[in-house]
Amino acid sequence: MLSTMQDVPLTVTRILSHGMTIHGKSQVTTWTGESEPQRRSFAEIGARAAQLAHALRDELGVTGDQRVATLMWNNAEHVEAYFAIPSMGAVLHTLNLRLAPEQLVWVVAHADDQVVIVNGSLLPLLAPLLPHLPSLRHVVVTGPGDRSVLDGAAPRVHEYEELLAGRPTAYDWPDLDERQAAAMCYTSGTTGDPKGVVYSHRSIYLHSMQVNMTESMGLTDKDTSLVVVPQFHVNAWGLPHATFMTGVNMLMPDRFLQPAPLAEMIESERPTHAAAVPTIWQGLLAEVTAHPRDLSSMARVTIGGAACPPSLMEAYDKLGVRLCHAWGMTETSPLGTMANPPAGLTAEEEWPYRVTQGRFPAGVEARLVGPGGEHLPWDGESAGELEVRGSWIAGAYYGGADGEDLRPEDKFSEDGWLKTGDVGVISDEGFLTLTDRAKDVIKSGGEWISSVELENAIMAHPDVAEAAVVAVPDDKWGERPLATVVLKEGATADYAALKAFLARSVAKWQLPERWTIIPAVPKTSVGKFDKKVIRRQYADGELD
Ligand code: ADP
Repeated sequence: MLSTMQDVPLTVTRILSHGMTIHGKSQVTTWTGESEPQRRSFAEIGARAAQLAHALRDELGVTGDQRVATLMWNNAEHVEAYFAIPSMGAVLHTLNLRLAPEQLVWVVAHADDQVVIVNGSLLPLLAPLLPHLPSLRHVVVTGPGDRSVLDGAAPRVHEYEELLAGRPTAYDWPDLDERQAAAMCYTSGTTGDPKGVVYSHRSIYLHSMQVNMTESMGLTDKDTSLVVVPQFHVNAWGLPHATFMTGVNMLMPDRFLQPAPLAEMIESERPTHAAAVPTIWQGLLAEVTAHPRDLSSMARVTIGGAACPPSLMEAYDKLGVRLCHAWGMTETSPLGTMANPPAGLTAEEEWPYRVTQGRFPAGVEARLVGPGGEHLPWDGESAGELEVRGSWIAGAYYGGADGEDLRPEDKFSEDGWLKTGDVGVISDEGFLTLTDRAKDVIKSGGEWISSVELENAIMAHPDVAEAAVVAVPDDKWGERPLATVVLKEGATADYAALKAFLARSVAKWQLPERWTIIPAVPKTSVGKFDKKVIRRQYADGELD
């Protein structure tokens, strides 16, 4: 028997209509580096999204499910693109502006992008690539930046504001199938070519509802969220969509992602929430330690994308800022877990829950799989690879316009679960603790050493700003850990001191023999420790 319920498709268009009417007064504030930021209400964003859709269809000829790319910072115009493109039935492709040029060329061709909307300040990056991007028919430029670098560029160049000016502020949005593609994002391709993950209207809608639940980010229209996580990094973790559902104000840093301007915008705009990867919070901590600023408005921070060192959480606790750990991937939209402790605990009792990656929400099923394919118990001890499934979890990668979807064996199980490549344990209460990425675990003499555990323990040393541990080949043990350490300014700790400190928290056989002090940890395009580069650059680390 079927239900008697209405079958109303879950679409981005519905999120837009809701946000621009019910929460029309909520605001997107974009940092400009000038005395006043740019402020735009959700109602204005909605009207301009309609104008953008008219321009894309009538002037630039975007039809059907063609792909429209963005090469943009986090700002109001990017939010407009987020809603206009999927709502008109086209597919938003957010380009990672830190990808290597050859990877950008590859993903634009693979996605067959027809149009790119680009921030003027990023034209020096785009212009030299244009001759290699034959699918792009139009370039739409917005915001400050020298346009002359585009002179002689093959596709037609348009000014965003001129394109929108005078067009109708309402659009007769088409009825869409909720399973249709709305947006796509490529993984950063640490191994091989990047892989395209295509989000549906339905997956975005359901994911947004989860982001808004109290057990996840739980924000309301009383909040302002500082969205530092780039809009090209898994849809800024779903925040632009989720905020339009609940009227949460957004504070967008545009290109001002350095610690000093971030501290300034927090002090002056007083966001109540923020989201970013750990390296951003490490940088901000160093900044406010040197030049104190009032961060106290920012009561809650969502931190994820890489393991959050417990020492970082402690440091922010002292500033009145609570970091809440979350785990996810491009393939998981990204919300997979969040570490909100169960109710009724004291601060001390909450701590062991806060340092985990968190609990799975209702929409995400999880299982741990051992080396022989066996399913492991949730006992907090049995370690295996995490596999997940759910309505906002990828079941395949995009195979290109003429290709079939890709389901590589190492990424998808035969019964359709996503193999995350992350290794960890799950407690009997459903809290996940990741020990490592499978490819980063150090396999020493038949035992596994968690690089993350060593990093967290080293980063607890007061002289250490950052530490990354990688495996190096070893004749006797197969692999041994190499610790690369960045010291805080003026700090003097030497290898012996660091090793003695580490020996207090890990077993002796896990202690690295190889240490090297480095000026900065190499980072990936989304600000995570780049272990591939570290292995390449520092595999010959100095011996102690
Ligand atoms: P990339 O693979 O290019 O880094 P993703 O952003 O999709 O792109 O990365 C997902 C991976 O990031 C996860 O598989 C996991 O290894 C890591 N990760 C994400 N959040 C956390 C976290 N809270 N703790 C530890 N690792 C995390």
